[in-house]
Amino acid sequence: MKKQLELLARVQQIDTDVKKTEQLKIKFEEDAQILEEEVKKDEERHNFELFLLEKLEKDYKDKEKATKLYQEKILKTEEKMLAIKTNKEYQASIQEIDNIKKMIGDKEDEMISVMDRIEEVKKDLKASEDELNRVKSEFEEKKREIKEDLKEFLDKVEKEKEIRASYVSEIDKDLFDRYKQVQNLRNGVGVAFTEAEQCLGCNMKIPPQLYNEVVRAGKIVSCPNCHRILILKPVKESAEGEP
Ligand SMILES: [Zn+2]
Repeated sequence: MKKQLELLARVQQIDTDVKKTEQLKIKFEEDAQILEEEVKKDEERHNFELFLLEKLEKDYKDKEKATKLYQEKILKTEEKMLAIKTNKEYQASIQEIDNIKKMIGDKEDEMISVMDRIEEVKKDLKASEDELNRVKSEFEEKKREIKEDLKEFLDKVEKEKEIRASYVSEIDKDLFDRYKQVQNLRNGVGVAFTEAEQCLGCNMKIPPQLYNEVVRAGKIVSCPNCHRILILKPVKESAEGEP
């Protein structure tokens, strides 16, 4: 029976590793997904800022063009003034030129404020680009982790599963069925080490008589509290309650 219980403890160890790896895999994938969404959001923001900058630069050029047209119009008006005969026509032309100059002044003010906006957007663009690069490299790193580290874990687990099968083939069917049953009920842990009349799976005291049975390892003993199959804690084992 002692040998049987030892095999069962090894099966439990493998089952615990497999479970940890599965949880790790889920966590890796969740982290990667969160980062991917972050990359998408940052890309959208970055693209919007690019669009905004393009729009502002076009706006600036349009205003610049309009200013030039006004200036040409002033030149034409001044040319026509040379041929003017009456004072009334002359005054009207002066008025027209003043009006155009005022419009140029307005356009130039607008151009200054558009230029300020362009500077702001350029700053935002730089910040969003840095952020995008940061998140992207984090995402690449996470993908690399998943590819390499997780693969290593999964390969290890595949090997362990083969070893597990060889252990299981040597374990009595009744004992193994009982293990599976408790394992399902107790969050994947069907076996608990025991030490100094205490179940290390649930930390409850075990009656001395029962504890002696575990020490003798003559038959299967379950913890009266958590129902896990009890195995005497081997010397120099880890201090964890779950084997
Ligand atoms: Zn217990």
